Amino acid sequence: MKKNTISIVVPCYNEARTLQAFVAEILAVQAQLPKVFLELILVNDGSADETLGVMRALASEHPNRISYLSFSRNFGKEAAMLAGFEHAAGEWVAVMDADLQDPPEMLLEMHQLITTTEYDVVATRRVSREGEPKVRSLFATMYYKLNNLISDVKIEEGARDYRIMTRPVIEAILSLPERNRFSKGLFSWVGFEVKYLEYPNIERQAGETSWSFTKLFDYAIEGLISFSDVPLTLASYVGLLTFVMAFVYGVYIVIRTLIFGAATPGWPSLAVLVVGMGGLQLLCLGIVGKYIGKIFIENKQRPMYILKEVHLHEEDDKA
Ligand code: UDP
Ligand code: MG
Repeated sequence: MKKNTISIVVPCYNEARTLQAFVAEILAVQAQLPKVFLELILVNDGSADETLGVMRALASEHPNRISYLSFSRNFGKEAAMLAGFEHAAGEWVAVMDADLQDPPEMLLEMHQLITTTEYDVVATRRVSREGEPKVRSLFATMYYKLNNLISDVKIEEGARDYRIMTRPVIEAILSLPERNRFSKGLFSWVGFEVKYLEYPNIERQAGETSWSFTKLFDYAIEGLISFSDVPLTLASYVGLLTFVMAFVYGVYIVIRTLIFGAATPGWPSLAVLVVGMGGLQLLCLGIVGKYIGKIFIENKQRPMYILKEVHLHEEDDKA
C-alpha cells in the first residue's frame, strides 16, 4: 500500500477526445492537494479510436503518475473498474469517468472527508438529470424504486460510480468473486460508512455516451438479478395465484352446467385462458432462464478481462 496516495481508476472506452483534458483537470486538482499524491490508472476497455495511443503519450509525459492497462477487447465498464482496482496500490482508491461528467474538483472535498471523518467511502449522487432524454430519467427513477423494493441491497437514487474508498473497502470489493459484476450493487453490498455528496448533472465533455437504451436496460436487469431472488419468488406466486383462479373458475363452470344445463359456447373465455396461461408460463420460464444463464456464466470461471498491454508508472520515492 502506498501511503498518502489516491489511485484514481479511469475506465475509458473511446475517450481519445477527452483524456487530455481529463488529465489536465486532475493536475489542477493535484496542485491544490499538496499533501497527497494522485496517481492515475487509465484502463483502455478495447476502444476503437486512438485512446490507447493517447494513453501511451500521456504516460510518457507523466512517467511518475500515469499507469495504463489495455484490454484485448471491450469487456465493459465493470471489468475496467475491476482491473483498475486490482492494480491500484494507493491508500485510497477513487473511480472517475474520463468524460469529465464527474467533477474532478470534488476530489478535494472527498479527500478532506475521508481523511478527517469516520467515513470509509465518500460517494456522489446526481441530483438533476438535465441534458438527458426524459424517458431515460423516467426509467431510471422507476428502476431505483423497483430495485429498492425487491432487493436487499439498496441503491441510492442517482448514485454514480464516482467515489473514493479506503483500502479495507477496496479489499472487500476485490474479495467478491462473482463474474456478473454490478458495481453499484457491490459497492452497497460491502457496507461500510458511506457519505453521499450531491451535484447537478454535467454534460459530457466530448464524444458520445456508449450506453444505448438496450444496453442500459440489460444493465438494469443485471442489477436486479444479481442482488435479488424476489423475481423467482414472484414468478411462483403469480403462477400459484393464476392456478387457484383457474381452479375456482373451473368449479364455477361445473356448478353452472349442473344447474343451467349444457354449457353455452364459451370459446372466448377459453381462448383468453389459454393465451393468458401460455404467456404466464413463458414469463416465469424467462425469469428462471435468466438466473440459469447467470449460473452458467459464473460456472465457467472465465477471467473478467484479458490484458493486452500493461504499463505501470515509475516509482518515485518523493511521490
Ligand atoms: N466505459 C467503459 N467501457 C464501456 C463503456 C463505457 O470503460 O464499455 C467508460 C467510459 O469511457 C466512461 C465511463 O465508462 O469513462 C462512463 O461511460 P459513459 O460516459 O459513456 O456513460 P454515461 O456517463 O453516459 O452514463
Ligand atoms: Mg459519461
